[in-house]
Amino acid sequence: MTDKVRDYWRNFVGGEWVDAADGGRIAVLDPASGETICEVARGSAADIDRAVAAARQAFESRVLLAMTPAARGELMFEIARQLDGLADEIALVEMRDNGKTLQNGYKEVALTQRYLRYYGGLADKLEGRQIPLGEGLLDYTVHMPYGVSAQIVPWNGPLPVGARSVACALITGNTVVLKSPEDSPLSLFLFAEACERAGVPKGALSIVCGYGREAGAALVAHPDIDHIVFTGSVETGKSVLRAAVERVIPCVMELGGKSAGIVYADADLDLTARNAARGIFTHSGQICSAASRLIVHRSIHDQLVEKLKAQAGMRTVGPGAEGRDMGPVISDRQLLRIEGLCQAGVEEGATLVTGGSRLDQPGYFMPPTIFSGVTPRMRIANEEFFGPVLVVIPFDTPEEAVEIANGTDYGLAAGVFTRDLRLAHWTADRLVAGQVYVNDWWVGGVETPFGGTKRSGYGREKGQEALLGYVQTKNVGIRY
Ligand code: NAD
Repeated sequence: MTDKVRDYWRNFVGGEWVDAADGGRIAVLDPASGETICEVARGSAADIDRAVAAARQAFESRVLLAMTPAARGELMFEIARQLDGLADEIALVEMRDNGKTLQNGYKEVALTQRYLRYYGGLADKLEGRQIPLGEGLLDYTVHMPYGVSAQIVPWNGPLPVGARSVACALITGNTVVLKSPEDSPLSLFLFAEACERAGVPKGALSIVCGYGREAGAALVAHPDIDHIVFTGSVETGKSVLRAAVERVIPCVMELGGKSAGIVYADADLDLTARNAARGIFTHSGQICSAASRLIVHRSIHDQLVEKLKAQAGMRTVGPGAEGRDMGPVISDRQLLRIEGLCQAGVEEGATLVTGGSRLDQPGYFMPPTIFSGVTPRMRIANEEFFGPVLVVIPFDTPEEAVEIANGTDYGLAAGVFTRDLRLAHWTADRLVAGQVYVNDWWVGGVETPFGGTKRSGYGREKGQEALLGYVQTKNVGIRY
């Protein structure tokens, strides 16, 4: 297995590997050390122009639409196969530019292959309808691709998040320009390599790395794109939507979260503590649907906090290369934000149970952190940390618990912990969130529709439902 990250990576534009038009480069850091590991081409407006022109040309040539849907599906299977040969290098770069363990890097490859095979299998199953209009008439619907899909991906899970949107777009006949995240761009370059080896038609997919304010802004404001898939923060999402409004193009918006688990007094507390800790400490909390709030019945608050503290204490923190349970957060900027919000929690009067500030060592390491006795109006109960910080909020009645859970701007995921099935259903029914988990966190995955309500966004990724975000319905009515 290779243990050296390539020194320099070019963008993949219109089937060619190219330097930035202006020769610019971005230094990529290892968050476990803060040191530069390599450089990537710094795409900007000129590179985006070139990629969009290639995508437009590929779309107008109907190169994907000329393939049978089954053949487009086969193409996804082939990309998945090609990833096998790149898995070692992908695991390595996920460790180096993202802070994951090697084992989790391989898991990202496996997850990506699963998305490709899932959507590859669906390529020939997206069917239209025949609508009865009576004698002498035939009416049917078809799913049309939008055209050029502009996709913006965040740094926390670039490979699977990027690949699933690319797969949905390509099997439905759209072409894609994807802007990869500047903090953690390397695995998507290798995905582009797998696509090239698999024979994805030239121009059907371009992957350009660049800063959000340069390449990202140029892409979403480009006059020749037809569709946007954005995954990232609410603030950036708003600016993406402002650009989309100018040309009235549809968007799939996957934004942030402040997802709450409600824990009733009858819950299995060991199971709850295990799942809640997994829900917030996995990938150091840098998951949009992390279990970042726990709303706990007052009678078990202290007991559960003790169990959560024990869970936090079991976790080792350190470089992915050392195989620790929790790696670094992505950057110093992100770590400063997390620490600042922790400081606000202390000033607001919440009890800091464990953690709260960075580890005294090189790299960007934040220990598992828990606040108890939090009240719903505190900043730490409302703002997204995107780090390993859990806030525990006591409640007295189920109505109050649901009100607190639904009381933030976000609505991505939610959870319920109880042995009472009736109460579980009652609560799931009232939670305003795109996914609800009962007695677990992250039930489902590739097959289950995922997305936000409220400021967490709209549209769905994952599952069959995602495909509907990549097509528009055309009705054909015939008098014969
Ligand atoms: P971010 O919004 O800063 O960046 C996301 C992407 O947008 C990056 O590729 C960035 O370069 C690009 N970008 C930045 N400014 C832009 C602009 N003006 N125009 C176009 N693109 C621009 O978010 P982040 O800090 O990288 O990621 C963390 C956020 O993403 C969190 O809020 C998290 O909850 C959210 N997220 C959501 C999901 C989901 O599926 N709902 C998944 C992962 C992350």
